[in-house]
Amino acid sequence: MADKIKCLILGSGPAGYTAALYAARAGLAPVLYQGNQPGGQLTITSHVENYPGYPEGILGPQMMEDFRKQAERFGAKIRGGLAVKVDFSVYPLKVSIDDGNEIAANTVIIATGASAKWLGLESEKRLNGNGVSACAVCDGFFFRGQDVAVVGGGDTACEEATYLSKLCRKVFLLVRRDVLRASKTMQERVLNSPNIEILFNHETREITGDDAVNGVKVINNKTGEEKILPVQGFFVAVGHSPNSEIFKGYLDMDETGYLKVQPGTVKTDVPGVFAAGDVADKTYRQAVTAAGTGCMAALDAERFLAEKGLH
Ligand code: NDP
Repeated sequence: MADKIKCLILGSGPAGYTAALYAARAGLAPVLYQGNQPGGQLTITSHVENYPGYPEGILGPQMMEDFRKQAERFGAKIRGGLAVKVDFSVYPLKVSIDDGNEIAANTVIIATGASAKWLGLESEKRLNGNGVSACAVCDGFFFRGQDVAVVGGGDTACEEATYLSKLCRKVFLLVRRDVLRASKTMQERVLNSPNIEILFNHETREITGDDAVNGVKVINNKTGEEKILPVQGFFVAVGHSPNSEIFKGYLDMDETGYLKVQPGTVKTDVPGVFAAGDVADKTYRQAVTAAGTGCMAALDAERFLAEKGLH
């Protein structure tokens, strides 16, 4: 028998928890499934300094803990579990959870976020967990006093490089173009760290090592010169892709998988299904914008239910 839920929320980052908070306060008895990374991407970051209301900054995992508690205070039900299948061709909307639970939902708020991208090299896969990582805060500790490389030129790469520079002897930052994409503040932190060496116009050919990383083969894409950097850790920070796989065939999405919403709203092309946060945002991708769209999704879910006479 299907579990009947008025407002189902998928995802537990700022978008999901904010949607849960608003939906709970509106009396929608929301149920939120946390997905396979409870708390979302902020749980693998360190200090968040740009979320308003925290003048001294806050640790990402703590902030998500606070978000969760605030939603729970108003009665939101937070459950562990990952949505693995949907059927949005029927109403109520059907969602299957990996614990076997089948849900019939009147509204679904998708806040499944995005996940770190990889370079796609065979050696990267083979050495994953043995020197290759996509999270400096999680794994940096293992490389204390050693040399590491970070690939990428955005805020994530600069943040990871800065974090690692405090633990490691030397950090190479491998940037494929001749500029960093990161914000000025992040760039300055990298430039002010004496043990970070930026290698512009460098691409990764291969990560070397049998059982553990012992180097990275890079090529200068301007001169064609190849060299091996002797590093023990290799951190990938080349952006993210949206967690939207299970909605393929049901929801309109762009060529890279970001869910499409009607401009200025969080409405997908299926009535009663709303998309909030990074899964539908390839432009801003901030905790505060995700929280904002989570709020919009809950307000729209409430209106939708009222119009249907379900609330
Ligand atoms: P971005 O998409 O901003 O940057 C990705 C970087 O990886 C770019 O420099 C890109 O190069 C490079 N890249 C992509 N593919 C490859 C490849 N195959 N080989 C080598 N390099 C590659 O992603 P981020 O994760 O850095 O940031 C995502 C969002 O999150 C941004 O909006 C950012 O501002 C935000 N953020 C904010 C933070 C904060 O404020 N505390 C911390 C972290 C992220 P190119 O530039 O050439 O395209």
